[in-house]
Amino acid sequence: MIVNMSEYISTRGEDAGSTYEDVLLAGQASDGGIFIPNELPQYDTKRLEELSEVREYPDFFVEVRSDFVGDSISRDQQTLLAHQAYTEEKFPGVAGGNYVPVRHIGGQLYIQALSEGPTAAFKDMALQAVGQDMEYVLDRLDQNLRILGATSGDTGSAAEASLKGLSRVSLFMLSPKEGMSEFQRAQMAALSGENIHNIAVNSKFDPLQKMVTSLKKEEGFEDLGAVNSINWARVASQIPYYFSGYLQVIRSRDELKIGDEVDFVVPSGNMGNALAAYEAKRMGLPIRKIIVATNENDVLDKLIQSDVYAPPVGEAETTSSPSMDIKRANNFERIVADLLRSEQTGEHDPERVREYMRILQDEGSVSFARVGRPDISLKDAGFESGSSTHADRLRVIGQVFNQTEGTDIIDPHTADAVGVALRKAKLDIPTICMETAKAVKFEPTITQALGFAPERTDIRFADMEHHLDNPDAFYDLIGAMDGLKRYISANS
Ligand SMILES: *Cc1c(COP(=O)(O)O)cnc(C)c1O
Repeated sequence: MIVNMSEYISTRGEDAGSTYEDVLLAGQASDGGIFIPNELPQYDTKRLEELSEVREYPDFFVEVRSDFVGDSISRDQQTLLAHQAYTEEKFPGVAGGNYVPVRHIGGQLYIQALSEGPTAAFKDMALQAVGQDMEYVLDRLDQNLRILGATSGDTGSAAEASLKGLSRVSLFMLSPKEGMSEFQRAQMAALSGENIHNIAVNSKFDPLQKMVTSLKKEEGFEDLGAVNSINWARVASQIPYYFSGYLQVIRSRDELKIGDEVDFVVPSGNMGNALAAYEAKRMGLPIRKIIVATNENDVLDKLIQSDVYAPPVGEAETTSSPSMDIKRANNFERIVADLLRSEQTGEHDPERVREYMRILQDEGSVSFARVGRPDISLKDAGFESGSSTHADRLRVIGQVFNQTEGTDIIDPHTADAVGVALRKAKLDIPTICMETAKAVKFEPTITQALGFAPERTDIRFADMEHHLDNPDAFYDLIGAMDGLKRYISANS
């Protein structure tokens, strides 16, 4: 059998033979499932050693990701696009072409900065690349694309920063009126206009995500694209930085060699970032544990501890790490699809995935045992987990500040990761916490933790909040779904 690695299939069995291009533009699969690759490229020690010679991140990125893109974009073109996605101009705070630098905090503890991009959140890492891919593919097809998304914080501005000014894409971004930080709202306000439409809704995040899903089922809106991590292109674009983080740490210590294991700690909401770590592990990157860190919205922590997926009823709690205030992790279906593969043949078992999702839908909770696979455990699959409270975050921000003699101020999401690392990781091997945002975005929480706000040394953010004075920056949605349909139709 010839396996083409850049072919995709829905978790629920349809859309076999989809290409990267299809997946990039469609977002969701036609049967309500989400796309997964048929096969993953594999890395042994030798291939990791070769990869370790590639120093500039854009080249490194293409090296790892190109197997997922396949023939949809030529390799030369991919390189060109990656060098447009990751530039010194967009990542002004880092040196030497390494846009995902790892720093040592002490002992076995490391932090990998993923938030050096235009909006100071890790979502830039994937979205900068996805925006470039979309414009390129749409140009070639001579098509336009309308994208509908929902944000609880950073997706909004990161997607807007990557798509702003593109001629073939228009973006409609729903956001909750309350819950995001003022800085996050100001970032979205700054990007409003032209092809970027901000839509404010009097609701929490989860219902907004549902609105997005249901509108895509309605006539005339089936072709709406996605920029959340439902879009596999985003996940694929997050995998390379795990390889980079791993190699940076191994290279930094004489006693370590390629092949030695590390743990990664990932602050999680929709589980896109943790999924990218999981795929990297399946590709052969020596990851021992993927430690999922949540805030008070701890559905993923409970899931990993119990193997029972039970998103709570009611709304997500608003916390001081707001980009993780999510109670339903859409990407988990991808992990389910992988784990439910047949024990005998290794083939996907979409029927069982559909059954799993149906029980979840009908009963509000589900386990692997309920679909006849009591043998499956998320811990055996490499996951560990923990959760943090607001008080934990404040304490951890202070601890890291002290440990680094006042040089390192981490944001509340990264603090969720570091806190869980300190409590749940064994710390007997390098433990890399993913930094998903910069502290400057969350001044009130940092002030509460340290007694002062982080300095806004980055001129991009110096006077962010004045953008909130623009009365047209957000459209106030009235009339829920009907209003949304009217607005999108009138503006596309
Ligand atoms: C989106 C986001 C997360 C959660 O990432 P997922 O991939 O949805 O799990 C964590 N931290 C920050 C700062 C984010 O913006």
